[in-house]
Amino acid sequence: MPRSYVAEARKRVGPKKQRIRPIVERLAVEHADARIALTFRSPLELLVSVMLSAQTTDVNVNRVTASLFEKYRKPEDYLAVPVEELERDIFATGFYHQKAKALRGTMAMLLEQFDGEVPEAFDDLLKLPGVARKTANVVSAERGNAQGIVVDTHVRRLSQRLGLTKQEDPVKIERDLVRLVPREDWARFPHLLIWHGRRICIARAPKCEECPLAPDLCPSTRV
Ligand code: SF4
Repeated sequence: MPRSYVAEARKRVGPKKQRIRPIVERLAVEHADARIALTFRSPLELLVSVMLSAQTTDVNVNRVTASLFEKYRKPEDYLAVPVEELERDIFATGFYHQKAKALRGTMAMLLEQFDGEVPEAFDDLLKLPGVARKTANVVSAERGNAQGIVVDTHVRRLSQRLGLTKQEDPVKIERDLVRLVPREDWARFPHLLIWHGRRICIARAPKCEECPLAPDLCPSTRV
């Protein structure tokens, strides 16, 4: 897109600080059902589901965890079987070598340092092997204690299209978003963008004519 056109579009929709609340409000109406798509019943199941969700779909993870969580109920259970057995049980989520190693390391640390419970503190979550910022963000947000904003591929694409960030790097995008999005919306904001990205603002062919953010709130609109 030519630079002059981008500047013109930005001027048309106004500053992002003024647009962020109406963006959240309209998306919340459009996607009232937006929530995490992973199925879990406890903080431990949440943590495992998010760890397994790297590089695969939530639907795929749910298919695997439906039986996994019947067999593995406590951190000890992940350490009680040979690693090859755990790898077989999570095979369908992909990257099963790394994921099994991360799960076992995490379970060992939960038992050694956190009385077998998933810690609440964000910094403690980050200590767990294989738990990066994105996983810690998702777990904290789902427990009502959002410490940041989860940035996945949809959040990145939509934040850029909506002119909320010019960054490419997820950490820098998150930095821009936490400055802009009201703290009380940190948990639901990524879900709203993810569902909007799946249903309307699709990567290759955004349905701008159906979008509640067009034309006044989106500088990238095609309508
Ligand atoms: S107007 Fe188009 S580009 Fe902008 S958010 Fe909506 S679908 Fe995406």
